[in-house]
Amino acid sequence: MPLDRKPAPNDLRAFWMPYTANRQFKSAPRMLVASKDMHYTAADGRQILDGTAGLWCCNAGHCRPRITEAVQNQVGELDYAPAFQMGHPLAFELANRIVDIAPDGMDHVFYTNSGSEAVDTALKIALAYHRARGDAARTRLIGRERGYHGVGFGGISVGGIVNNRRHFGTLLAGVDHMPHTHLPENVFTKGQPEHGANLADELERIVALHGAETIAAVIVEPMAGSTGVLMPPKGYLEKLRAITKKHGILLIFDEVITGFGRLGSPFAAQHFGVVPDMITCAKGLTNGVIPMGAVLATAEIYDAFMQGPEHIIELFHGYTYSGNPISCAAAIATLDTYAEEGLLTRAASLETYWQEAIHGLRDHPNVIDIRNMGLIGAVELAPIEGQPGKRAFDIFVRAFEAGILIRVTGDIIAMSPPLIISEAQIDHLIGTLGEVLKTAA
Ligand code: PMP
Repeated sequence: MPLDRKPAPNDLRAFWMPYTANRQFKSAPRMLVASKDMHYTAADGRQILDGTAGLWCCNAGHCRPRITEAVQNQVGELDYAPAFQMGHPLAFELANRIVDIAPDGMDHVFYTNSGSEAVDTALKIALAYHRARGDAARTRLIGRERGYHGVGFGGISVGGIVNNRRHFGTLLAGVDHMPHTHLPENVFTKGQPEHGANLADELERIVALHGAETIAAVIVEPMAGSTGVLMPPKGYLEKLRAITKKHGILLIFDEVITGFGRLGSPFAAQHFGVVPDMITCAKGLTNGVIPMGAVLATAEIYDAFMQGPEHIIELFHGYTYSGNPISCAAAIATLDTYAEEGLLTRAASLETYWQEAIHGLRDHPNVIDIRNMGLIGAVELAPIEGQPGKRAFDIFVRAFEAGILIRVTGDIIAMSPPLIISEAQIDHLIGTLGEVLKTAA
């Protein structure tokens, strides 16, 4: 394009949108131009109730003044500090703040810029940890079908969503997958399902196949979000913990969605009473305002690296923007907001209300399952024959037209509103979805 010609603002061609049907979107775009608390403003001025906390990340709602001001002030104070061999106070302060609310035993924090990077970082730490202890044969990684662990090569290798994997070649070698835990006998369960704890025994089978001495780590989402909101069966996570411990295998919980209050505790590990060796988080860490992720690790893991000559870098890994001052300022202000407003436990007090509201959709057309926990829930629809995902996508578009933002994955509708949602707003969200389900039938 000639230098003197500026592209028209409504020219949508250049931006290659992620995880989006670009041609479809660009023919009928849905644009957001502003946000405040529980609402987005659409380009046509309509208020849209946010039923998904953005992409599961704006747990305190939108444009919260404390966070906005913290970011604005930090940009003018210390905009950037080299992440390697240099420090700045906020990075250390934030790590302590995270450890304070994390499960007992999670004593160290490694910063990343996203959930995907947190996952790949945790997998690399697991491999390097075993090597640092003289256990270099432990190189195998185990994930789970239907797991979502971001889009890095590590994450899609241990992840179990077919479309995220099959276009991208051979992926990491030495990865096995446990079966997912979504069983037909658990449909319409409120909270944790009764059936399926025995699926954790599949891990024993994989261990027996390869030998425990070859396995570095197991990674699971304690509650799987992106793959359609799948709750762990009662006793399942406890079994995974027992089996991994018995065989010296590290257990990683991917808490990119469940971290920061989604289930009614700061982390799902606390909610379920099962503490892993590492936790990955992102999203709610900064309320979605600035990209940031983190890996939390036990002292045992950290200490395994703190050996040898002091001048040698212990872990050859890190990002230019690891713990950058603006992300740290946003995260500290976010944690302050969560603490002041009791948001990390608010999902627990709203859980029953949310549960009854969402299960009220049970008799609506095409609904084949509903599941919920904390302030997250899913409504699964019967797919249209030969057109998987079409029914839910149409509902998503109509819901947006009706003034609510939901999320769909396949034929599953997922909702995870900001933790500031009121009971009246829950009624509005679910009531509107109910109307859309009826009219779309
Ligand atoms: N892990 C889980 C469990 C997630 O839900 C996500 C994002 N939805 C990721 C990892 C990836 O995070 P990001 O998109 O920030 O890379």
